[in-house]
Amino acid sequence: MSQAVQGQQGVLLVINAGSSSIKFSVFEIEPNGDPHERFGGQVEGIGGAAQFMVKSSDGELVGSHDWPDGSAVDHDQALHQIDDWLNAHLQGRPLLACSHRVVHGGLRHAEPVLIDDAVLAELEALCPLAPLHQPHNLGPIRAMRARQPNLPQIACFDTAFHRGQSEVVQQFALPQAVTKAGVRRYGFHGLSYEYIASVLPQVHPRLVTGRVIVAHLGNGASLCAMKDGRSMASTMGFSALDGLAMGTRCGSLDPGVVFHLLREMKLAPDQVERLLYRESGLLGMSGVSNDMRALRARATEPQVRLALDIYVHRIVREIGSMAAVLGGLDALVFTAGIGEHGVDTRAEVLQGCQWLGLSLDAKRNEAGERCITQGDPAQVPSAWVIPTDEEGMLARHALAVLARTA
Ligand code: ADP
Repeated sequence: MSQAVQGQQGVLLVINAGSSSIKFSVFEIEPNGDPHERFGGQVEGIGGAAQFMVKSSDGELVGSHDWPDGSAVDHDQALHQIDDWLNAHLQGRPLLACSHRVVHGGLRHAEPVLIDDAVLAELEALCPLAPLHQPHNLGPIRAMRARQPNLPQIACFDTAFHRGQSEVVQQFALPQAVTKAGVRRYGFHGLSYEYIASVLPQVHPRLVTGRVIVAHLGNGASLCAMKDGRSMASTMGFSALDGLAMGTRCGSLDPGVVFHLLREMKLAPDQVERLLYRESGLLGMSGVSNDMRALRARATEPQVRLALDIYVHRIVREIGSMAAVLGGLDALVFTAGIGEHGVDTRAEVLQGCQWLGLSLDAKRNEAGERCITQGDPAQVPSAWVIPTDEEGMLARHALAVLARTA
C-alpha cells in the first residue's frame, strides 16, 4: 500500500450493477490501509417503480427513497440517487475512487484496470460475449464519468481470476478459426474465488498449496478447481450458463437441445435465451421457485424433491470433474448464499462425495462451524464453509490500482 493511499481519509464506492438492480457499498480506509465496509445498499426494481435503500454495517437503515409508481427509473437515475446520497454523507471526506464489478474482461484483462476512454471502448466491444450482463455493468461507469469526470474508476473482472488456466482447459474442441474469434472458456465468479483464495491461509495451512474445489452456490453457481490459490478450471465457460444447474439457469446442456428448441419446437433465439437463462434451473424444474429457502420448505413435494436432487447431483458430478483436473482433492469449500447457509444442500453434496474421502460431520454442519467434515484436516480431505466477500475484493483492488497509479 502506498503512503499516498494509506494516509487518505477518504472513502471508496463499490458498485455491482445488474439488469434490474444496482448494489453498492461504501468503504472507509483503516489506519493500516485496509478497506472497511461502512454502508451497503441498493436500488432495486430498475425499469419500474424502483426503491433505494442503504444500511450501515450494523444493519441500521440510514437512507431510503421510493420512486412513485409508473416512473420507470433507469440505471442513470439510480446511480444519481446513490451518488447524491453518498455526497450528503461524505462529511467532508473525499471520494477516492469508484470500483465496479464488470463481468467480462476478455482475454486481455487478467487484472483490475483504471478506466479511461480506451478501456471503456474495449469493454464495450466485449458486450456481445456477455450481452445480458456487460451493458448493465458499463452503464454506471458512463453515468459516473459524466457526473464526476476526474474521479478514478476501476473495473474488476469476473473473468480475470481464470486467465491463468492452461490453453488445454480454456479451449473448446472447435475449429481454430472459431477459437480465434473468442469462442473459448472464460469462467466467471472470479472475484469471489479470488477472495476465497486470499483467505485460505488463515483457514488452514494445508489449503494454501492443496488441491481445493470452491463451490460458489448463489443464484448463479459454479465450481472452481484451485491449486496454490490459482484457478486451474471452472464449470462456467463461454457464458454464465455453463456447468451447474442454478436458480433460473440450466447449466451444462447438450448443444443439440438448442437446435431442437429452435427447429422442432419453433422457438425464436430470444425465447431460447430467456428459457435457458431465466426459466430453467431450480425454478423451471420445480415449477415453484428459484429460491433455495422456499424449495427446502416444500421439499416433501415430489417435483420439488426431484429438482433438489438434480441440483445436488449436478454439483456432485462436477466436483468429480474438478477433482480429476486437480488429480485428487484436499478440500472442498462452500460459499455464497446456498453454500454459506444451505445446511441440507451441503449435507447432500457431501454424502455424494464420500468416494473422495469427504466424511460429513452432521453436528458441525448444522452448528455452522467452519470445518464440517470429520477427522483431522491436516490428514484427510476436509470441507469448509467460508463466507465470500466480492465487495471487499472490489475495494481492495481499487486501493491497489490507486497505489499503483499514484
Ligand atoms: P446472488 O447470486 O444473487 O448474490 P446469493 O449468494 O445471495 O445470490 O444466494 C442466493 C441463494 O441463497 C438463494 O437461493 C437463497 O434461497 C439462498 N439462501 C439464502 N439464505 C439461505 C438459507 N438460510 N438456507 C438456504 N438457502 C439460503
